Amino acid sequence: MDIQKAIISFEKNGYQVKFFQTPEEAASYLNVEIHQTTVGLGDSQTLLSMKLYEKLSLHNQVFDPQHCPHDKSFVDVGKRCLQTDVFITSVNGASETGVLINIDARGNRVAGSLFGHKKVFFVFGINKIVPSLEEAIWRARNIAAPQNAKRHGYKTPCALKADKCYDCSSPERICNLLAVHYKKMKGTEVELIIINKSLGY
Ligand code: SF4
Repeated sequence: MDIQKAIISFEKNGYQVKFFQTPEEAASYLNVEIHQTTVGLGDSQTLLSMKLYEKLSLHNQVFDPQHCPHDKSFVDVGKRCLQTDVFITSVNGASETGVLINIDARGNRVAGSLFGHKKVFFVFGINKIVPSLEEAIWRARNIAAPQNAKRHGYKTPCALKADKCYDCSSPERICNLLAVHYKKMKGTEVELIIINKSLGY
């Protein structure tokens, strides 16, 4: 994986890019950048491992469907995430050619990354970056999705075997949407936080 090529490609595609050696350094940067505002989080093992919800909640109003108050449902909190000034999520795949890929089951994560926020951050480790668009889609479908299905305890064929996508018709299928971010969306500031570690799926 050629990180310099990837960074140049992302910048050409309109993204701000920051590269950090550790998740701790990345979390410290975000903790300074995001202050006294409203924040929505998209379902992400990377963000969970960085404890961003806990850190940002100390000085922001943060909404995360994975941290629902007892009187609120996933949908309640997910809707609120779409109305914040800042949205943070990760990616299931990225390419050295500057493309980002996400698969979604309900749409909350992808919806939050597309429209309506002042700023969007995509936070991901270098394990998500592969040479081409085709390989990034393959990665999202055959590596990220099966491991996410397994994490949720779903009974999809990929989760049971954890090896590849079976293009299932399971009621618990998580691959209902594939988003390809060819370039930065107009009208929104988007920053990529790339971390020199293997993080999430
Ligand atoms: S389509 Fe089904 S089998 Fe394929 S990764 Fe998604 S949930 Fe797993």
